[in-house]
Amino acid sequence: MIKINDLNVYYGGIHALRGISLEVPKGKIVSLIGANGAGKSTTLRAIMTLEKPKNGTIFYKDRDITLEKTQNIVQSGLVLVPEGRRVFSNLTVEENLILGAYTRKNAQVIQKDMEWVYGLFPRLLERKKQKAGTMSGGEQQMLAVGRALMSKPEVLLMDEPSLGLAPLIVKDIFDIIKKINALGVTILLIEQNAKVALEISDYGYVMEVGRIVLEGKGRDLLEDENVKKAYLGA
Ligand code: ATP
Repeated sequence: MIKINDLNVYYGGIHALRGISLEVPKGKIVSLIGANGAGKSTTLRAIMTLEKPKNGTIFYKDRDITLEKTQNIVQSGLVLVPEGRRVFSNLTVEENLILGAYTRKNAQVIQKDMEWVYGLFPRLLERKKQKAGTMSGGEQQMLAVGRALMSKPEVLLMDEPSLGLAPLIVKDIFDIIKKINALGVTILLIEQNAKVALEISDYGYVMEVGRIVLEGKGRDLLEDENVKKAYLGA
């Protein structure tokens, strides 16, 4: 579904991505783990062409999107859920969801998609008239995911869905990610919480200072001694 080859991204003099190559097959959950500053967010931003690579290519569904406009990429089904639950705090849950459907116009379709999202997140239905900014961190994260789903993505790129959440809520969010994937949405996830990410991932990549240093099946990485030492607190 996504194929990145030898991607290099610079921020001025900082060489943030140093030849990243990775693949996200259709229907799978793939995670990218690594410490602060490893380049995980930059990788997601580069896929959405929010950062311009110096060289390298990004293919989505066999099409080279390296120089494509972000808006076209979203319209073709590749959607980013950004870090930090960037919901519109002064708008209600429902208004936030409607904004997520901006690429589509038919009110009936929007209504149907909204019911689908409420089915996945009953908590959002209970709170549909509540201002997003007054909700808990976990609820705002659910809303950020729900809003991305309103555009009916084929692939979701998720930036640190567990950030700042209590362990029980993290479990809820990851259960929902599994459910969304079971419905056919391909997922590329970046996480500092390596354990929860690898547990639900078909495949994982480990990033260190702009490079991929290790890759393998999610369950194999969980057993890997280096991963255990560096990322699983063993
Ligand atoms: P985190 O988990 O902390 O978000 P990350 O793995 O997502 O880390 P990135 O945010 O991709 O890492 O950052 C990779 C490197 O690029 C870091 O050294 C960071 O300081 C640098 N960087 C990121 N964004 C910018 C920017 N807009 N301008 C300059 N440097 C940047």
